[in-house]
Amino acid sequence: MSTPSEAPPRPPLTHLADDETLLRDTVRAFAREQVAPVVREMDERGTFSAPLLRQLFDLGVMGIEIPEAHGGAGGRFFHAVLVVEELSRVDPSVGVLVDVQNTLVVNALVKWGSPELQARVLPGLAADRVGAYALSEAASGSDAFALTTRAREDGDHFVIDGRKLWITNGNEADVFVVFATVDPDAGYRGITAFIIDRGTAGFSVGKKEDKLGIRASSTCELIFEACRVPRTAVVGEVGKGYKVAIETLNEGRIGIGAQMLGLADGALGHAVRYTQERRQFGKAIADFQGVQFQLARAATEIEAARLLVYNAARLRDAGAPFLQEAAMCKIFASEVAERTASLAVNLFGGYGFVKDYPVEKLYRDAKIGQIYEGTSNLQLQTIAKGLLGPRR
Ligand SMILES: Cc1cc2nc3c(=O)[nH]c(=O)nc-3n(C[C@H](O)[C@H](O)[C@H](O)COP(=O)(O)OP(=O)(O)OC[C@H]3O[C@@H](n4cnc5c(N)ncnc54)[C@H](O)[C@@H]3O)c2cc1C
Repeated sequence: MSTPSEAPPRPPLTHLADDETLLRDTVRAFAREQVAPVVREMDERGTFSAPLLRQLFDLGVMGIEIPEAHGGAGGRFFHAVLVVEELSRVDPSVGVLVDVQNTLVVNALVKWGSPELQARVLPGLAADRVGAYALSEAASGSDAFALTTRAREDGDHFVIDGRKLWITNGNEADVFVVFATVDPDAGYRGITAFIIDRGTAGFSVGKKEDKLGIRASSTCELIFEACRVPRTAVVGEVGKGYKVAIETLNEGRIGIGAQMLGLADGALGHAVRYTQERRQFGKAIADFQGVQFQLARAATEIEAARLLVYNAARLRDAGAPFLQEAAMCKIFASEVAERTASLAVNLFGGYGFVKDYPVEKLYRDAKIGQIYEGTSNLQLQTIAKGLLGPRR
């Protein structure tokens, strides 16, 4: 038996440090006071409230990992996960806007951007500019590196032609991380990441999708027609965009795990409150053991999802490998979100099926967790590769 370690005991995964508790409580109050009142209207209109967007910047949650020298919060990835979880308890559309900004766009720039590019773009992202991350195309989703958007070298510029599909924040964004290939014959080794600003000649935002869920989150087509960008807009190195994409998406899917965790927790909260108020057969329906057991099972699944999400995020911040853990947290949290939202609809009875109550929206919102940032099958592929790959 080993002797007691001299090292300080590791805090439990779900134990929050003082700064984490403060952030969680601040964002929780913000979500309750500022987000909740506009959720239904944003969902019905399929638009994101402009004043709410401004408030998110004022709250300081749009540049969590941006260094303070560039106007950001100088925080950690785990902080972003907490913020996405809390916002998504009230509205997963707000959660994903903040998630893409932090875990994909800011993340790619902080890790891969040249000092000049960082100095040009990061202060705006912290202050008032929304970011979007454009990898997918009509014919390349799961097979993302089959993308065909082309970047042709022209002196100290690149000229970009092609179309991107499904781009979150497309409507609100000013800054786009765009993946294109400089050499289609080179396969993934041709892929290069660029920063392209809204308003650049030859770049336009196309059709916005009309969706089942997360309707306030815009999902748009991007069109590039002879769009000239300077070489200084390259994120990382020419031909190394695949690394930028793989590494940011590996981290980004922890954020989607957090979005789904928040959604599930929000749905359970509604169900717990409602079942204590709703009376049938002369008592609250929460007094029926059949209902209690359903709530207890959901709470257990949510706790398991939280452990997976927090562990993946804390591994990432510790610089430890987290690929399997990120895939596991995303697939599990998204399935728990769907099950919990479905249970909440059931427990609301007929009221669960109408828009006057919040759970039908959460049920619609849950579905996306199994699709974007790698479908569930792709997560299983990653997990299986780890299991069946070189002996551990
Ligand atoms: C609301 C929304 C927001 C999005 N936001 C963004 C964004 O901001 N940026 C961005 O770049 N993209 C975004 N996407 C795109 C998203 O990442 C893709 O839709 C997703 O990766 C799946 O690609 P696909 O739709 O082409 O489906 P496909 O890849 O065609 O998959 C269809 C089905 O086939 C299965 N499948 C495919 N390959 C395999 C395989 N090898 N083994 C087993 N099963 C397989 C999939 O699991 C899925 O069930 C968004 C999508 C949506 C719907």
